[in-house]
Amino acid sequence: MPHIFLYGPSGTGKSTIGKILSRNLNLPFVDSDHVIETNAGISISQIMAQQGEPAARDMETAALKQIGSDKESVIALGGGALLRGENRALVESHGRIVFLVAELETLLERLHSDSNKRPLLAGDLREKLTSLLASRKEHYDSFPLRFDADQAPEKLASEIQVALGRFHLSGMGDYDVIVQNGDIDDLGEMLKSRGLQNPILVTDHHIAQFHAEGVMASLKKVGFDSKMIALPAGEVYKTLNTISRLWNSFLQNGLDRKSTVIAFGGGVVGDMAGFAASTYMRGIPWVCVPTTLLSMVDASLGGKTGFDLPEGKNLIGAFYPPKLVLADPQVLTTLPEAEFISGLAEVVKHGIISDPELFDLCGRGMDCVKDNLEQIVKRAIAVKIRIIEEDPYEKGFRAALNLGHTVGHAVELVSKFQLRHGEAVAIGMLAETKLAERLTVARIGLSDRIAGVLSTLGLPVHIPSNLPREEIIQTMRVDKKKNAKAIRFALPAEIGRVELVDVTDLESVLE
Ligand code: NAD
Repeated sequence: MPHIFLYGPSGTGKSTIGKILSRNLNLPFVDSDHVIETNAGISISQIMAQQGEPAARDMETAALKQIGSDKESVIALGGGALLRGENRALVESHGRIVFLVAELETLLERLHSDSNKRPLLAGDLREKLTSLLASRKEHYDSFPLRFDADQAPEKLASEIQVALGRFHLSGMGDYDVIVQNGDIDDLGEMLKSRGLQNPILVTDHHIAQFHAEGVMASLKKVGFDSKMIALPAGEVYKTLNTISRLWNSFLQNGLDRKSTVIAFGGGVVGDMAGFAASTYMRGIPWVCVPTTLLSMVDASLGGKTGFDLPEGKNLIGAFYPPKLVLADPQVLTTLPEAEFISGLAEVVKHGIISDPELFDLCGRGMDCVKDNLEQIVKRAIAVKIRIIEEDPYEKGFRAALNLGHTVGHAVELVSKFQLRHGEAVAIGMLAETKLAERLTVARIGLSDRIAGVLSTLGLPVHIPSNLPREEIIQTMRVDKKKNAKAIRFALPAEIGRVELVDVTDLESVLE
């Protein structure tokens, strides 16, 4: 995997942000200045004073060559490290450059106490810094991936993670989530770099016809001689029979405890391949490569696996986290439009739960969504990850993700699955927002705003007239623990915040 290089003027907080990213992503942190000093055995100030700036820059080039070829890290670079074309080319070939920008006053404040450690800023700090920034303006302006470093470091770090599509989960299992257009071409390499062995690809016939060749080629490129199992597509096949077929195929293909299952598909393939991996030989590693919008922003995250029984959906399953989740938004171009729209309901939901900017992006309509798809997927994933990391085993706040699902699931069941999951969730979100307004959890008007966004995206917002309300309420009652006196709803309080509220008077839910 590529390194993450942090670059920008002194005082932008490259080391502070670097350490936060290193912790969040479970990667080593390297300060390039420290590497130079360790190699030279003296401080950078001493190198400058004794040998001059060109010698110091030569040492910097040597240090960057050394760091570049090391294992993946988060690296804070010196404020002029990429002035040399050679250094810039080197760094660009080994990773992504994240450029930090801050106001002059912020930089002055941060540099005030230690400007004596920075030889190029010795003397009148304001004057020196102003002239240094002016002389490097063109150079600094040339870095496209830029972030405002005046904001709080934790917030900045998560903004950088979203932009890079890099996350690491440790609440349940320990694994990376990587989101980037074109990522599936690197699948083989990513498995190799994580020590994953002997992979087998599990997918369905629809997906295979579009994408299997590319994925198999990526596995072959790094020397894997992998086989593919293509299942029939659809929820009706999410059964014990199919799981059994998977177990048999694993056996026939000689999978052992060190082999890896790749679940390449939507939520159906992910749930089944993950469950089959969780039980085969008492559990073997698996990797999730989601191919629907719903599975990218929802099903692939959180380690839930399972299958359906004739009596109901997802009745059998296990929490079994994958070793890696790799989402490539480009594969969504072949997804049928209706599936895509259905997945957008979960994206809007994540915006309502805690990302108002994501909600606004969705509200700009389908063209905007498609033009910004990679960003939208990354933002929606970030919301779910934040929540499941806080509550990996659904003991508390993870219930926020149920927004729209309490009513939505009942509507889906009563419609006998004529409504897609996302459509039912959209209807559920609106019914639950109206409930929030009636309970004064939300201000009047929120439901109109949410209905506007859902409708713009082609999602339904009203319960179809042929679905009896009494049946929906009854289904809700049965669906959520029969003996409970109250049902806990995740209700939107405003865009970006939900509250968990116990509702006893179920008759009032669909008023
Ligand atoms: P799905 O897996 O059935 O996929 C929908 C359809 O799209 C299928 O026909 C599939 O073949 C096709 N398809 C998938 N990707 C494609 C692509 N890139 N190009 C062309 N066609 C493609 O449906 P889904 O909505 O992804 O998943 C629904 C399932 O997810 C349900 O079974 C649900 O229970 C489960 N789920 C699980 C979790 C969890 O936490 N594990 C969460 C939510 C939902």
